[in-house]
Amino acid sequence: MSESLFDTHCHLDFEVFDEDRNEVLQRAWQAGVRHILVPGTQQGDIASVSLVHGTQIQLHRAVGLHPYFIQQHKPEHLARVEEQLKQDQHLLVGEIGLDRTCADWDKQCELFEQQVQLAVKYRRPLILHHRKSQSDLLGILTPYLEQLPSCKGVLHAFSGSEQQAQDWIAKGFKLGVGGTITYQRAQKTRAAIAHAPLSGLVLETDAPDMPIAGRQGQRNEPCCIAEVFQALQRLRDESRAELARALWDNSHQLIGFLAADASGDNATC
Ligand SMILES: [Zn+2]
Repeated sequence: MSESLFDTHCHLDFEVFDEDRNEVLQRAWQAGVRHILVPGTQQGDIASVSLVHGTQIQLHRAVGLHPYFIQQHKPEHLARVEEQLKQDQHLLVGEIGLDRTCADWDKQCELFEQQVQLAVKYRRPLILHHRKSQSDLLGILTPYLEQLPSCKGVLHAFSGSEQQAQDWIAKGFKLGVGGTITYQRAQKTRAAIAHAPLSGLVLETDAPDMPIAGRQGQRNEPCCIAEVFQALQRLRDESRAELARALWDNSHQLIGFLAADASGDNATC
């Protein structure tokens, strides 16, 4: 038996999946994946992924300008982000954020704040990217926190201390739990995730990036989320069923509804 799982961060639209996207989705389905959230990264476009994939996986999308591509972002791309948000009320805002390893810090900060303002205006949760920048993110976000939806979004690829984990969750964010916890050496993050309030956790793969332990150098895939779930189960005290149920519910808070079929089990083929 495998659980019904929600990959809240997967770049399924990236070129690296063009050759075998259907097979990738089939494997994900077999592993229990029922929902995938695909963030936007460039040009204010939502990810274009064919829905003809022979599974019943539901795709959700966010739209946003990723700091990794900071030098390519233009004002018209930001306008396009807003246009998309206006047209489609199901879109989240992301992947946006700040990355100390990328160029143009001032432009990153400006663009991040502008996109947070759009999330406030259209009442959407955020998918947040960070690298050595958690406190910078909070510096910009804090004045807007009360105007965001009650589920304010996900701090994608969480790594950090127990205190940081608790602080983000207390502010209304979920922590994206991915391949990092499969690495024994990630002691601080593993401890933070082990002790964080369960209501603040969601699963993600960040595929094709962030491969799990033992698969370094390989393309990551959404089916690997089942192994992230198992790693999380080993870290936590809750029963497998309780954990699966909570992750399912937490993920659905992000997309604004609670699915009726939230039993979290026996739905796999
Ligand atoms: Zn990403």
